[in-house]
Amino acid sequence: MAERFLQCLLKTSKPSDKSLVKINWLSYRSKYFIFLQIFVLLKMAQSLSPNDPSSFSRPDLATTLHLHLSLSVNFERETITGVVNLKGKKNVPDVKEMILDIKGLTIFYIYDKVTGADLKYVIGETVADIGTKLSINIENCLESFELVIGYETSPKSSGLQWLNPKQTSGKKHPFMFSQGQPTEMRSIIPCQDTPGIKVPYSADVRVPKELTALMSALRVGNHIDLPDGNRLYLFNQPVPMPTYLIAIAVGALESRRVGPRSEVWAEKEIVDKAAYEFAEAEQMLKTAESICGAYVWGIYDMLVLPPSFPYGGMENPCLTFITPTLLVGDRSLVDVIAHEISHSWTGNLVTNGNFENFWLNEGFTTFVERKIIGKMQGSRMRDLQTLVGYVELRDTITQMGDDSPLTKLVPDLKGLHPDEAFSRVPYEKGSLFLRYLEQCVGGEDKFEEFLKHYIKIFSYKSINTDDFKNLFLEYFPSKEIHEKIDWQTWLYSPGMPPKVPDLDASLMNKINSLTNQWIAFNNSNEITSITEKDISKYSTIEVLQFLNQLLEKEPLSMKTLNTLNELYKFDSNNNFETKLRWLRLCLRGGDFTKLKAALNFVNSQGRMKYLNPIYRELYKNETTRKEAIDNFYQHKDEMMLVAAKTVARIMHLSSNTL
Ligand SMILES: [Zn+2]
Repeated sequence: MAERFLQCLLKTSKPSDKSLVKINWLSYRSKYFIFLQIFVLLKMAQSLSPNDPSSFSRPDLATTLHLHLSLSVNFERETITGVVNLKGKKNVPDVKEMILDIKGLTIFYIYDKVTGADLKYVIGETVADIGTKLSINIENCLESFELVIGYETSPKSSGLQWLNPKQTSGKKHPFMFSQGQPTEMRSIIPCQDTPGIKVPYSADVRVPKELTALMSALRVGNHIDLPDGNRLYLFNQPVPMPTYLIAIAVGALESRRVGPRSEVWAEKEIVDKAAYEFAEAEQMLKTAESICGAYVWGIYDMLVLPPSFPYGGMENPCLTFITPTLLVGDRSLVDVIAHEISHSWTGNLVTNGNFENFWLNEGFTTFVERKIIGKMQGSRMRDLQTLVGYVELRDTITQMGDDSPLTKLVPDLKGLHPDEAFSRVPYEKGSLFLRYLEQCVGGEDKFEEFLKHYIKIFSYKSINTDDFKNLFLEYFPSKEIHEKIDWQTWLYSPGMPPKVPDLDASLMNKINSLTNQWIAFNNSNEITSITEKDISKYSTIEVLQFLNQLLEKEPLSMKTLNTLNELYKFDSNNNFETKLRWLRLCLRGGDFTKLKAALNFVNSQGRMKYLNPIYRELYKNETTRKEAIDNFYQHKDEMMLVAAKTVARIMHLSSNTL
């Protein structure tokens, strides 16, 4: 345990010579300080939930049954003022307190609506990034109670992003959106902020009348114009779900219908473009239903957010949040939509019990996403996507170090914030594991039957890896199957997976051959048969895989980079995925004329998938390090806090001032 905290305190990426010097210095000069910190961290961690190292709450003692949120959104002060009605139940008769998670919230009052009594509460200890423990005395409440909590968020709420009009497409109105996963809902509402329990919710939301409010719920009736000039929106989410899926966005929004269950929402300047890009949503939904069972959430709307949204997509029920970086005009990046649709079952219906089991959300979802692609575009495309994911996993694990405990499929998060463990590992290693299991049990059809069974059994529940494993072993009792599977290594060993599933690599052959030609060119500078036609018939995913393969090799020479650009015109390619890889290749090869383009790229959007690798490349090289740090400080306030913190960590900067 202590070793774990020591690792956490001394966390650098792979220790460079410099950081080893730092560790030595620390070990000789600051031993006392370190052990004091370890003691404090250990003590604080002890008060966290035994079932969830990222939450204080104890739903095993007293649990939330329903939440009603009454929210007023104040753009001038950048706060939400709210009242939460929390219907709860004592699970243990003599339980004295109900523990909620809060982060930066001001609590005004708490009373019990059932008895009418004011309740005493204690705002307890704070653990950095995790938040603060709010203990409410429920000793005198009945077995069923209803807490009414008046509160306000901080303008620095880590789960809310407030944008001024200049940061939007329309430039006239402000915009606000939330991001609850993994542990930020507690900075928006007081709640038992653990995915270990699920609750339905309803809400009434007041916003300035020229703006639209949306939530991860069904819209109830039309909005109501209030006498005070505000507008009231009502929502209801009858399906129980983890608190991290509660989501809100407010802005000057319009919608276009793209299917019987789907509307696309965005600012009017981009809404038509977005409607074109995501027009295949219904077809994907139907395909997902054929794999996973009926869609229970009623509607599937999509909301395109301003560019600072830090993720590709967020699977908020009824209303997927999407980055505008997907709007490339040719539907080539809509695998993100297939991914978010898949979460409607894996993640939102069957949910990880805590974030150590995040692969149950993301590995399953990546697996289902590729099954959807396979059914719509053919099994060779499914395999190509899987192989691309495999190369990206290798890239991730090389960067993290193949002995890093965070490369385990089920990592230990005690003393760590889930954001620190966030990487491609749960997505790609998890999905590869399921693909491997699929082959062990005799193919896609047999495993798909099991997948349906798994979703049926665990719908509306939160589970851990052992629940999945036990169900699998019960469903496939054959000894022959069991003997093949090395569960321990797949689940609990760091590094690359022990086995690579058999995949159809035929689509890879031409990409491999093109990569080899370019490597030969790079090594010898000899003219080869490379022409501009080489990739003219490539799909976007094939181009990306070609660039991924080049990224795995030694840095390319300036001459090779220039020739690549002359033939394939990468400099003028505006697809964000292509741009990311091309800029990385150039920076890695020492082409610092691309510095400005790289900074423009990170400043134009806030998606962590794009920020992190570019900042990592810029930081790695002494020539570009200072510019990268200066640029970060100049633009950090335009980024969502989670993104700013991650980039600060990559560049070894203190996150205290963020
Ligand atoms: Zn996901």
